[in-house]
Amino acid sequence: MVYVTRRTTFSASHRLYNPLLSDADNERIFDKCNNPNGHGHNYVLEVTVCGVPDPLTGYVLDLKRLRDIIEEHIIEKVDHRHLNEDVDFLRGIIPTAENLAWAFWQILEQKIPSGRLYSIRVYESENNFVEYRGEPIDVPRYLVSTTTTLHDDDEILQR
Ligand SMILES: [Zn+2]
Repeated sequence: MVYVTRRTTFSASHRLYNPLLSDADNERIFDKCNNPNGHGHNYVLEVTVCGVPDPLTGYVLDLKRLRDIIEEHIIEKVDHRHLNEDVDFLRGIIPTAENLAWAFWQILEQKIPSGRLYSIRVYESENNFVEYRGEPIDVPRYLVSTTTTLHDDDEILQR
């Protein structure tokens, strides 16, 4: 098995906020990332596909093809956007690096033309990254605005 990786970057803003928690708890837990109007990160995304090299080409998959898939399905949707507000597939998800990696996996897994998706790494800063390898996890969606607190009649949708 050979593992091939495409590395790319994007810049986006987000706000980490859980409407089930008090404002004080949100601030304590999420700190700078809880800033009410969001704040930005320069993200690095690494997508790794594994497989056996094709005997004719020597490729697991053409990395130019992987580049184009990531560009079309992820980067164009998130680059220079507010992750809480502007990205349909992240709607209601707390946009931590963990949850971004999970969400990107859900999209990319079906798009890989040869080999299989092995890992997605999301770097939120130079020294901190998360890696997701596709084991099923539960990522809840909170269908309330990031800028309001939860009221009894707000709907919470659990995936
Ligand atoms: Zn942040």
